[in-house]
Amino acid sequence: TSFGFQDVSDGEKQSRVNDVFHRVAKRYDVMNDLMSGGLHRVWKDSMIAWLAPSKTARWKVLDVAGGTGDVAFRIVEASNRNAHATVLDINGSMLAVGRDRAENKGLIDNTEFVEADAEELPFEDASFEAYTIAFGIRNVPHIDRALEEAFRVLKPGGRFLCLEFSEVELPILDKIYDAWSFNAIPNIGKAVTGDADSYQYLVESIRKFPRQGDFAEMIRSAGFERVTWRNFTGGIAALHSGWKL
Ligand code: SAM
Repeated sequence: TSFGFQDVSDGEKQSRVNDVFHRVAKRYDVMNDLMSGGLHRVWKDSMIAWLAPSKTARWKVLDVAGGTGDVAFRIVEASNRNAHATVLDINGSMLAVGRDRAENKGLIDNTEFVEADAEELPFEDASFEAYTIAFGIRNVPHIDRALEEAFRVLKPGGRFLCLEFSEVELPILDKIYDAWSFNAIPNIGKAVTGDADSYQYLVESIRKFPRQGDFAEMIRSAGFERVTWRNFTGGIAALHSGWKL
């Protein structure tokens, strides 16, 4: 069965994505651990290691599709609380969970939560030293617009980092991954949230996302330079990097 994301308009796609994350917001963090076997933590830690946040300078990062704050909190902590992170998400339910977590972690002074669309960022040109997005860009209907906005709000010298599911490039692992994603993920989704469709959507959106080299080309088209990527876990996820020079 297909959730039918292929056949719907961009506006309809975004509203279905929004429904999914409104429904799962409170259980999102638990689901992430279950579905990735905890791997998303390792990948996010590697993302922050590649960003190598300054521990001395005061600087600003924008974490788009930041959801419940995972990436932003890691950056603030890795910077010894010198970074200020703006968590932007289109979904108020996800942000509400993120704000609670920031309070509980004592990180509220270093974080800010903004409800907005990645395709239309409510910030002036050249506002941030870094732009991060993790497992978010494939949900955005017009990826090219999101990339152009990323370029616009970065300061010259600013860094773009995108972590996303990608093309598995190891034989055998690709078969295991197919079995896992087409069977296990929707079933875990159903067991925990009572809703398999949401997770069927997740699997479909991963299949449709451009592979590593093609996505790198899109990032270059938005104006970024020195675009490179690293595969994690055989390409289940990939981290793309670019610079606004
Ligand atoms: N970055 C977080 C993480 O890695 O745990 C959350 C990722 S979650 C899989 C995807 C997020 O993208 C959701 O919180 C969803 O609301 C958000 N999102 C979807 N479409 C968006 C858009 N057009 N603009 C901003 N955020 C969007």
